Amino acid sequence: MVVGGGTAGWMCAAALSAAVPRTCEIVLIESEDIGTIGVGEATVPAIRFFNDQIGLDEAEMIRACEATFKLGIDFRGWGHKDNRYFHGFGDFGDHHEGISGYQIWRRLRDLGDDTPLDAYSLPTQMAYAGRFFPPNPDPRSPMHNYRYAFHFDASLYAAHLRKHCEARGVKRINARIGEVRLRPEDGFIDGVVLDDGRLETADFFIDCSGFRGLLIEGALKTGYTDWSHWLPVDRAWAVPTERTGSILPYTISQAHESGWQWRIPLQHRTGNGYVYSSRFVDDDAARDILTRNLDAPTLKDPFQVRFTTGHRNRFWSKNCVCVGLASGFIEPLESTSINFIQNVIVRFLEFYPTLNHAPVVEDQFNSLILSEYERVRDFIILHYRLNSRTDGELWRYCADMAIPDDLAARIALFRYGGRTIEHERDSFKSPSWISIFHGQGVVPQTYDHLADRIDADALKALAAKRRREIADIVPRLPAHDQFIAAHCASPAFLKRQPA
Ligand SMILES: Cc1cc2nc3c(=O)[nH]c(=O)nc-3n(C[C@H](O)[C@H](O)[C@H](O)COP(=O)(O)OP(=O)(O)OC[C@H]3O[C@@H](n4cnc5c(N)ncnc54)[C@H](O)[C@@H]3O)c2cc1C
Repeated sequence: MVVGGGTAGWMCAAALSAAVPRTCEIVLIESEDIGTIGVGEATVPAIRFFNDQIGLDEAEMIRACEATFKLGIDFRGWGHKDNRYFHGFGDFGDHHEGISGYQIWRRLRDLGDDTPLDAYSLPTQMAYAGRFFPPNPDPRSPMHNYRYAFHFDASLYAAHLRKHCEARGVKRINARIGEVRLRPEDGFIDGVVLDDGRLETADFFIDCSGFRGLLIEGALKTGYTDWSHWLPVDRAWAVPTERTGSILPYTISQAHESGWQWRIPLQHRTGNGYVYSSRFVDDDAARDILTRNLDAPTLKDPFQVRFTTGHRNRFWSKNCVCVGLASGFIEPLESTSINFIQNVIVRFLEFYPTLNHAPVVEDQFNSLILSEYERVRDFIILHYRLNSRTDGELWRYCADMAIPDDLAARIALFRYGGRTIEHERDSFKSPSWISIFHGQGVVPQTYDHLADRIDADALKALAAKRRREIADIVPRLPAHDQFIAAHCASPAFLKRQPA
């Protein structure tokens, strides 16, 4: 049984309906009265794999969810007030004889070449030119070395998944759960009591009930680990605005004095929000910052969301696994939350339970999920830690705070020789870490000396070739709007297009 019908609940139901034995009945309970959180509209490229695995047609999904393409995030004011850099979904050129494009760039810098690193990132150049085209799967193509994600309307994505799930036999119950009943003999969940008094039982429960964690916390009392000393933002104001101008193929993250503002372009509107720390700014002032920094009229009043960054102490407890906001939350700076839903589902299927509970399975699952959560946490802390802004208490606090040992070691390693550490399941690989380090001003003392293997003139020629390819390709690609209009426009998009 899946409890909750937000993005997490419907993603779980969709994945289960595609993967578990057909004899397993999947029931999802959600309450339309309670509703969903109403934010969560930017994704990372792995979402394409998820959609593909559950059998969604991409163009159909884009049309149904008013989605647009996302090539990365444009960070403005991060590091220092006038700074701007791009975290693109791609590498800085191909590897040559095992040497990464970044290390080639770093060595060329020692040889007196001051070409900006961004010149080697195709998604960055496409994004800044407002253009979009999908990568070419052929690794010999200069168009292959990048990926893309989506911005979508979260409620439409859940509705799209619901339609998909119901067509595959998932049973949906619209009701409020008033009580979670435990088995007296072992404390496992027996069932949930609905507001009309009905008892719904199941063998296994997936808690997707949002921040309240109805089962995992409300009934099983697993406890919560608070990480807000490392990530102090804890509230957001969110507001949609009218669509304006051409649609950018990227998210904007604009840092302000006490937090940062997102701008997520969709086909029919733009999503905006200001994420801030209540320790450093009050709610009214934060709302004011958001409304003063919008580029179009609002479509409704701003609404507030509160959260505590951290995670449940157990992601799997007895016959319950928590997914989505029920499992914890790391603020939305790199759109990691929906990606984490996907990662937890994949792990759950790898550890798919039997009716005989095996604590070893539960423990192993918990330890793997926790280490994945911690690595995402460290990636987000990195953005705050590498800053020299002095105009807000938030930034001064973050520049000085103690950070996790693993992250401190990663920063030291990069500062020395531009090296990064990758784990198999990392959501953010080396090019992402490099984008943040580089974008926020860290230039390693030295480069990987394996790069000396390639003759300096050959390196210069390789780099020049890559720059020429990008300069040739980008102006010939369609504008993002044109690509949407030709392949996956929603009726709302077409209505607004100039004739
Ligand atoms: C400010 C902010 C911005 C974010 N931006 C992003 C982003 O850009 N990208 C990203 O990946 N993620 C983002 N997230 C996270 C993202 O919103 C969530 O991961 C995603 O929406 C999943 O939410 P959910 O399904 O876990 O919870 P919810 O959407 O809260 O759904 C909970 C469900 O449980 C049901 N429910 C609760 N109690 C009961 C009950 N008693 N009886 C019956 N049903 C019940 C509700 O009706 C609802 O259906 C953001 C989060 C915040 C706070």
